[in-house]
Amino acid sequence: MQYFENVLATIGDTPLIKLSNITAGVIPATVFGKVESFNPGQSAKDRIALYMVEQAEKEGRIKPGATIIEATSGNTGFSLAMICALKGYRCVLTVTSKSSPEKLAMLRSMGAEVVICPSDAEPEDPRSYYAQAESLAREIPNSYYLAQNFNLNNQAAHYYTTGPEIWRQTGGKITHYVCCCGTGGTLSGTARYLKEKNPNVKIIGVDAYGSVLKKYWSTGILDKSEIHPYKVEGLGKTIIPDNVGFDLIDEFIKVTDRNSALRARDLAKNEGLMVGYSSGSAMEAVFKLRDQLKPTDVVVALFADHGSRYLGKIFSDEWMQEQGFLKDEVYDHSSYSYR
Ligand code: PMP
Repeated sequence: MQYFENVLATIGDTPLIKLSNITAGVIPATVFGKVESFNPGQSAKDRIALYMVEQAEKEGRIKPGATIIEATSGNTGFSLAMICALKGYRCVLTVTSKSSPEKLAMLRSMGAEVVICPSDAEPEDPRSYYAQAESLAREIPNSYYLAQNFNLNNQAAHYYTTGPEIWRQTGGKITHYVCCCGTGGTLSGTARYLKEKNPNVKIIGVDAYGSVLKKYWSTGILDKSEIHPYKVEGLGKTIIPDNVGFDLIDEFIKVTDRNSALRARDLAKNEGLMVGYSSGSAMEAVFKLRDQLKPTDVVVALFADHGSRYLGKIFSDEWMQEQGFLKDEVYDHSSYSYR
């Protein structure tokens, strides 16, 4: 018999997939996607949710019959719902109204309770999804708030799994790691491992216009004037999470909602890889790096989740048109970008 003990045993060891068509004649390097949608919960968040829960269990902070609480853009919630279903915990998730209806339905399908909070509420606002998670943790007895932004077991999960996988899969030849930054766990844990193996590996963080992270990295100042609404889910932050290892980042690239969406659609059309919105952001950042790359370079872009979560958004022509993302769509071959 050849089987896994349960679904959690299938987390990790995601494939590294060469991106030949989308880069042909354009990117002078070998480019791979580390495709995290191959996890059972279809995102990189399976890794951190499992690691954070199991570490807290070991430390006695999660007890039998506990309620696990988290503030999430959806993916961490899905992974947690899956883990709680198996381990018999109650799962309460606070999400912002930006999360797609598909994501909410998926959370509920595994028994999670979902509290929807306004996406425009400042983190200090008691209506915000962070504040709501904190107050639920105070109210519900035997509950544990995972707090992925500040729980350093988030990045530890990637230090112990994603980093070693990428190092092994590239035979130590990786030269550039391109990764979206939200809580910073995926970027920092992986980057810390890769830099320990080879300090010359370039770490490229990807941030959204409307997020405070890049400005904080370059100035050390949390500039709230940077904040404005944007569409890419999971990318960027309006707070400074403890999990962003700013010292590890060699370059921070900001990407637009429109180009991220168009790149994600290109990945599906040209590579048959239906990955999520922020994966389009990571791909867009690879294109923005183009002039710095040479043929011997080996670039790994991390694709955080699956495209099925965005059928009503970037994979809907109507939604794309409503956003004005398909208007006057002209591919500028000199800059390898959309104008
Ligand atoms: N992309 C997606 C789709 C996500 O859900 C997240 C996490 N919120 C990220 C990217 C960013 O990953 P991290 O939180 O590890 O920085």
